[in-house]
Amino acid sequence: MRVKILGSAAGGGFPQWNCACSNCRRIRHGSFRGKPRTQSQIALTGNGARWCLLNASPDLRFQILSCPELQPKTGVRESPIAAVVLTSADVDHVAGLLHLREFQPLRIYSTDSVARVLTEDNSIFRALQQVPEQASWQRIRPGESFKLEPDGAAAAAIHCEPFALPGALPAYAGSDRRNKSAAGEAVLGLSLSTLAGKQLIYMPSVAGVDDSLLARLDACDVLLFDGTFWSDDELVRIRGSGRTANDMGHMPISGPKGSLARLAPLKRPRRIFIHVNNTNPILDEESPERREVVAAGWEVAEDGWEVAL
Ligand SMILES: [Zn+2]
Repeated sequence: MRVKILGSAAGGGFPQWNCACSNCRRIRHGSFRGKPRTQSQIALTGNGARWCLLNASPDLRFQILSCPELQPKTGVRESPIAAVVLTSADVDHVAGLLHLREFQPLRIYSTDSVARVLTEDNSIFRALQQVPEQASWQRIRPGESFKLEPDGAAAAAIHCEPFALPGALPAYAGSDRRNKSAAGEAVLGLSLSTLAGKQLIYMPSVAGVDDSLLARLDACDVLLFDGTFWSDDELVRIRGSGRTANDMGHMPISGPKGSLARLAPLKRPRRIFIHVNNTNPILDEESPERREVVAAGWEVAEDGWEVAL
């Protein structure tokens, strides 16, 4: 399995168009020790020919242009991108579906609750269903493993097991839809396994980690984990008001209840923070916070990284 990290930032990217926080200001002025990043996006393949996207970022068009493997090889109209798996209905995870609207056949795997938000409540996504062979929505359920791109050769098959994470549908879905959403269907983590037993776990939004989830994480080879915020009050301090990291469904990295402390017992996986918000001091390669995560054995994802497993 080849895994490409096409985007590693949280919603808004880095720098964010309307943000003048210390990170965004300095990277615009060329005085920042660190890299710009597009919004989080993963692409993976078992056979090198057919690719599956994990979520569809608002930066997807640019990300495909930056990745030759995802570009058409033959024919007048074709794409190596066969499928998309959605972990939530968040704007930064679904807006990129609209970049894939040019009558291209596409499987879209999502829970029923997420699919209803997109296909019943938001008519713009009908752009994916203008002809019968276009988007094929496949319902997935937490705990039920399925094979990605079922047309591929068995030896290259990737099995995906979605698992429920705490969290609700995004606010834009409205209170009625949020109340009707089935438990465990709003936010997913994804476990992706090869036939040889190698396993990647992708979790861009994590509100909390209980003991059973911790055990699951210690059984994987590579963990891509929510690195959105360093501290719980990060946005409140910058904007002067608003919601905390925990209010937004993201456990912060630092603090006694943060991911650094909570995931410290992990022994097996390579640990990589992804979905990093532009305000997060770990983006600054010279910051004490960056040194702290590196000393704890974590990496900070960058656009363009590839992981093979
Ligand atoms: Zn910023």
